[in-house]
Amino acid sequence: MILRAEKAREKVARAGAKMARAGLVVGTWGNVSYRVLHEDLAVITPSGMPYDALMPRDIVVVDLKGNVVEGERKPSTELELHVAIYRARPDVCAVMHTHSVFASAMAAARMPIPPMVEDLAQLVGGEVPVAEYGPAGSRELAEKVVSALGEGNAVLLANHGMVGVGEGLDEAFNVCQIVEKAAQIYLWASLAGMPVALSRGEVLKLRKDYLTVYGQQ
Ligand code: 13P
Ligand code: ZN
Repeated sequence: MILRAEKAREKVARAGAKMARAGLVVGTWGNVSYRVLHEDLAVITPSGMPYDALMPRDIVVVDLKGNVVEGERKPSTELELHVAIYRARPDVCAVMHTHSVFASAMAAARMPIPPMVEDLAQLVGGEVPVAEYGPAGSRELAEKVVSALGEGNAVLLANHGMVGVGEGLDEAFNVCQIVEKAAQIYLWASLAGMPVALSRGEVLKLRKDYLTVYGQQ
């Protein structure tokens, strides 16, 4: 087996456990994948297995058409969604699908999350759109998610949950956490009054500064 795929399996097993510990999923729901660079392959969590017991050998190696290349487990039922994103977005190397509570509440209301707070504007660079409803695990859902995601990095799945993507697993995880936090803020702010979105100009500035000067670069 390609060494890069072996390393990717370890990383995905760790990312799944981290996602579960962060409370972004309960039980065995949600899934994580990671692109194997230069190989036209990806590795993905198995279907319906508890994250705290996942071993690297449980992670399934697939090609970008969705065929299993190596692994004894059945891959996630959302395999088609993950590989459809990799095919459409060469810049994306990690995909995380969560059922976090507040993002799922917005997804059930089929309402996009407006950019109201700094971290969401910085990391997502605009509102989080809602993909039209498609049954879980279907090609229809995969197509609708790819279309709503566009060039962005987060999308809500109507009556289901959310997907965050990134150049790496850390970024996809951060996107999922920040979207969950923004959904929570939006819903609390709705109880207090009418949430106010940041202006388009302010959002663009926050995003640009985040990409060019924020942190240690
Ligand atoms: P898997 O356990 O098959 O990955 O499915 C969980 C899920 O969230 C389906 O949408
Ligand atoms: Zn799901």
